[in-house]
Amino acid sequence: MSDHRIFDKGANEMKKSKCPKCSSTDIGKGKLSGYASMVPVNKVFSMGSPIIAEICTNCGYILGLKVSSPEKFKVD
Ligand SMILES: [Zn+2]
Repeated sequence: MSDHRIFDKGANEMKKSKCPKCSSTDIGKGKLSGYASMVPVNKVFSMGSPIIAEICTNCGYILGLKVSSPEKFKVD
């Protein structure tokens, strides 16, 4: 039964996203791709990276945007 404590701690650290506007935890993910893909400014031949958006499916608020391959944007 001591194992449960370990799992509980892990669950807390992986806390679910919550909408700051309506407090809903029904957060969906959307993807901007194609013409809207993010391309590194200094890497002409790069394919760029799709943009992932976290969207509240209750009120439509966008919690955040991130690229799916952030390592492509590292500046040497
Ligand atoms: Zn919301």
